Amino acid sequence: MSKFWSRGLDGLTPYTPGEQPRQSGLIKLNTNESPFGPSPAVTDVLRTWPAEQLRRYPDPDSTALCNALAREHGVRVDNVFVGNGSDEVLAHTFCALLRHDQPILIPDVTYAFYRTYCALYGITYKAIPLDSEYRINVSAYEVPCGGVVLANPNAPTGIALARADIERLLASHPDQVVVVDEAYVDFGGESAIELTERYPNLLVVRTFSKSRGLAGIRVGYALGHAALIGGLNRIKNSFNSYPVSSLSAAAAIASLGDTDHFASTVAEIIRLRQLVAGELGRLGMLVLPSSANFLFAAHPACPASRLLAGLRQNGVLVRHFVSPRTENFLRITIGSESDCRALVMALRKVLSDRSG
Ligand SMILES: *Cc1c(COP(=O)(O)O)cnc(C)c1O
Repeated sequence: MSKFWSRGLDGLTPYTPGEQPRQSGLIKLNTNESPFGPSPAVTDVLRTWPAEQLRRYPDPDSTALCNALAREHGVRVDNVFVGNGSDEVLAHTFCALLRHDQPILIPDVTYAFYRTYCALYGITYKAIPLDSEYRINVSAYEVPCGGVVLANPNAPTGIALARADIERLLASHPDQVVVVDEAYVDFGGESAIELTERYPNLLVVRTFSKSRGLAGIRVGYALGHAALIGGLNRIKNSFNSYPVSSLSAAAAIASLGDTDHFASTVAEIIRLRQLVAGELGRLGMLVLPSSANFLFAAHPACPASRLLAGLRQNGVLVRHFVSPRTENFLRITIGSESDCRALVMALRKVLSDRSG
């Protein structure tokens, strides 16, 4: 707190990102990064990039990247908005499309940044409880509201919602924007992108950070009706004319061009996810059915805080969200095969030390 702060700043609760440890040698399964890294085509871009060009500002509209994304998803370029990570795209979405009189609806267990943006922009929200199996029940969202924000698959549960359920939500809220955050959709969810053509109230938000192994370049995007994209551009152009660096745009375009690397790394993560889920089940853990690159798992007899500390002592970082419905779960990113093996060994050790 400081007397120099603007009104309300001391009341903000910023989002807490997962730890990026300075200490090396830790097995980092806490922020859903890819264990494989980006396409070799991205490495080529970085190696051959003409540094001299960095004296220029980038294209403020990121036209080449928007064109590449329009081609990738079969939409028009005026249906595409890009930003400095999908977190920034989401922030602009809350500011441009969700500031209305009625509260917006979000799941009670979801990406914590949604509440942070509500606080930042003075938006009220109503948290709709997940059902007893931690699923989103779309009929609970059929109430008057100022908009809806969901992650699909949801985070940190990993549970996906069928496209038909998203469509039901869109049809029941024709006068409100429904935001579907598809950060993890490539790992097994059903994308809602094809619905953007028929539903002018749908905004789909995506990122290069997870399935494309590019969290460090900070590129995210949104797809939707041109009127929604126009609203986002008004905010963006009132905030930062050049959110996507020229180097980041070129790396993102190169990533989109390498479908083989994308498909094979995603398939490998899905394969490892099934293996790890099986192992955790054998260790007596409850594992929610994940369509993402992480598992959300709880042990009926060992508190998650204890597992978290034990794993850390064994060099493995995972994520723990302390709130009533999530505090007994750990969110565990699917790493490389050797990371996964190390995780399972460390868990086995922590659980047997406890009973021994
Ligand atoms: C990781 C994540 C994001 C943020 O992605 P960036 O593009 O890296 O900002 C957004 N939404 C969800 C649900 C995420 O898990």
